[in-house]
Amino acid sequence: MSLDLTVDGDRWRDHLRSVASGEPGLVPVVKGNGYGFTLGRLARKSQWLHDQGLGVDTLAVGTYEELPEVAQRYHGRLLVLTPWRPFGAALELDPAYADRVIHTVSRAVDLPVLLARRPDARFVLERSTSMLRHGMTTRELWSTAEVVRGHPRARVEGVALHLPLANGANLSEVHRLLIDVVATELPLDTVWVSHLSAAELTALRTAYPDFTFHPRIGTDLWLGDRSALRVTATVLDVHEVERGDGFGYRHRTAPKAGHVLVVSGGTAHGIGLEAPLGDASLRGRAATLARGGMDAAGFVRSPFSIDGKQRLFAEPPHMQASMLFLPHGARVPAVGDVIDVRVRYTATAFDRVVVS
Ligand SMILES: *Cc1c(COP(=O)(O)O)cnc(C)c1O
Repeated sequence: MSLDLTVDGDRWRDHLRSVASGEPGLVPVVKGNGYGFTLGRLARKSQWLHDQGLGVDTLAVGTYEELPEVAQRYHGRLLVLTPWRPFGAALELDPAYADRVIHTVSRAVDLPVLLARRPDARFVLERSTSMLRHGMTTRELWSTAEVVRGHPRARVEGVALHLPLANGANLSEVHRLLIDVVATELPLDTVWVSHLSAAELTALRTAYPDFTFHPRIGTDLWLGDRSALRVTATVLDVHEVERGDGFGYRHRTAPKAGHVLVVSGGTAHGIGLEAPLGDASLRGRAATLARGGMDAAGFVRSPFSIDGKQRLFAEPPHMQASMLFLPHGARVPAVGDVIDVRVRYTATAFDRVVVS
């Protein structure tokens, strides 16, 4: 009765190991829905990578609220990607792991407040990038040196850069930013980065041999080998319909003979409507209307596929199930069969994750 993520464990673990051994300083990112796997499982897998001697001495979470999910399953340092602010969960750290937490300071004004509360705080200083999300300008970054001088127990863990998804086009920006970093009167020789290609990281390590680079990686680590992952729904009911038969919450009528299928997976799992089929232009719609096409009847493509073909929603997805329309002639699956579903892993809540 569920939407399942089935993981080929050997394949997945091989991929995780190969990323960790190929990316020295790797910081696994474990946030949100845990990229579909759950935060707890990814925290345990990060510890497993560390236990095999593959580095991984720091794990990154997205928010302070996520720390309790990972802190007992992973034993190294815990970098929080959301910048520290003088409010919210950042001020309520559990003393059991507070000393393992590395804060991200993205505004100069926050640093004295953080250090007043916790004089031995560990933190990275975030420099703004072309993403323009969080981070300090050069001047702001330089101004933090004086604050740090006034707090001898402060632990500066480096500088953080959050780069756009640029497919190998981030190198010149990083060079420019590092010129500012080098000019700061702080020991910022550890650089935490995102979204750099392996070639870019190699180039940086060669250009800055005294620096340590920590690539923060989520998607390419956990979801990098899609062939290890399969998402399935289960067929819960099958109804034969004739043209004109009514069905569903809105009592639509079948545009032609076929089958209405009820399958597991709905809005509660993050299943949404996909783009309408085919040609959206007026002329295109007139042509499909003339052909009696399914999209002309208002049917929308679903992420569920049967026999390799993406099927149409009979009506918008329900909370935990969806209704599909299968036209006459297609093979009709049986109740209990599983069918493939294409999802965005970071936006899907699976009922079960099964790792072999
Ligand atoms: C989410 C995130 C990452 C990891 O991004 P992926 O594309 O999943 O690898 C890295 N750095 C920051 C600051 C992030 O928020």
